[in-house]
Amino acid sequence: MIRHFDIAIVGTGHAGAQAAASLRQGGFTGSIGLIGAEDEPPYDRPSLSKDYLAGIAGSEDIRMRPADFWAGRDITLVPGTRIVQVDAAAHRLSTGTGEAIGYGRMLWAAGGTARRLTCPGAGLAGLHTIRHRHDVDALRADLGNGSPPAGRRVVVIGAGFIGLEAAAVLSQAGHRVTVVEAQDRVLARVAGRLVARHVDAVHRDQGVDIRLGAVVRSLAADAARRVSAVVLADGEHLPADLVIAGIGLEPVVAPLPAEPDAAGGIAVDGQGRTALPDIWAAGDCAAHVNRYAGGRRIRLESVQNAVDQARVVAAVMLGGTAVYDAVPRFWSTQYDMRLQTVGLQTGHDVELMRGDPAAGSFSVVYLRQGRVIAIDGINAPQDLAQGRLLVQAQADPASDQIDPAALADPAIALKSLIRAPAMATL
Ligand code: NAP
Repeated sequence: MIRHFDIAIVGTGHAGAQAAASLRQGGFTGSIGLIGAEDEPPYDRPSLSKDYLAGIAGSEDIRMRPADFWAGRDITLVPGTRIVQVDAAAHRLSTGTGEAIGYGRMLWAAGGTARRLTCPGAGLAGLHTIRHRHDVDALRADLGNGSPPAGRRVVVIGAGFIGLEAAAVLSQAGHRVTVVEAQDRVLARVAGRLVARHVDAVHRDQGVDIRLGAVVRSLAADAARRVSAVVLADGEHLPADLVIAGIGLEPVVAPLPAEPDAAGGIAVDGQGRTALPDIWAAGDCAAHVNRYAGGRRIRLESVQNAVDQARVVAAVMLGGTAVYDAVPRFWSTQYDMRLQTVGLQTGHDVELMRGDPAAGSFSVVYLRQGRVIAIDGINAPQDLAQGRLLVQAQADPASDQIDPAALADPAIALKSLIRAPAMATL
């Protein structure tokens, strides 16, 4: 007899874990299986490139829920189990070890894997990625077993959140860090130019060497087949004891019998439903139509998106009519900077500075055709809390345009610029 769950959830990241918890919270009484390739209960992935890498938080500290949470809610954890094939018609999953798991309904929340370098030398020892807890354990062991001798030469490839958070932790631990980024600025995918310039300057002040517009040609090896340098397209060798590649995410959708969409994800409707029978998807791999992206189909790689989509899927599985429509939110911590974003700044035609970067606390408001579409902030939590509602209100095409001078004046609270209906929820 094969194992069967009324609802099988594949993936133990924020989307999978939230869906399981929300189903029980909403009164679901059938069986729930929370299936994950990793050998442990759900943990908080964003901590990996921050406190866990720094050694400030241990494995128990980053657990998403207390140890007895899952059993206490009759949620069956199925760890160490990779789903390699989905038979949608038969409602059956196949595992990497050949086991079959049946389901009534299924949530695909398998997230993604760290994109790998493909250049010569990409198979050398000493090259690391940061996606799973064991990746960071391996990285810390390579640095010196938990108490790293300072002064190792670390080259970080990619200046996204992973690369810059790792650069901040390791430079503060006394390592000599160089960041290599293909784009002409840091945080090219996730923040605007003014914020990127500030973040870049803070890293340089901390002694991080940042190379922009730099293309990696290969990794050079020492006699022991361990990485010894990163070689750039212009021939420069950046000596390295250790290399970290933080070059993006590849969504995991291959086991599903469906073609990935243009963004590499699995297409879902506003309630997280795929075109496959009784299969939903949520989180990093779910390609959904997002009105904050001008109605384009996109994937969002963030905890907010994973959690909010999972809540909608759970509500819909319980018979509700919820539709996913949350304002996108991102955050990062580097040194004493708390970077937060609400909305999506892609396609903006105006950016307005609020406050003074020299004071270490400011925000940037992005407009498209006169309406606020996003706000980035550094150590500006109030602007970001109020900005979320402002972005939400301005997504309504009937909303009033706001005077740019008022938006740029830090003495004027953003909430005072929101019209009455959105204010009601503040
Ligand atoms: P990312 O945000 O996509 O940034 C990767 C950067 O590396 C991009 O600018 C990319 O440029 C560049 N790059 C790619 N290939 C390169 C190469 N060969 N040489 C030099 N630069 C190269 O991805 P990430 O930082 O690796 O993060 C992975 C995922 O984890 C993302 O979903 C991220 O949002 C998430 N994450 C989130 C947080 C947080 O919310 N605080 C923290 C950590 C990680 P191109 O765009 O040209 O490829």
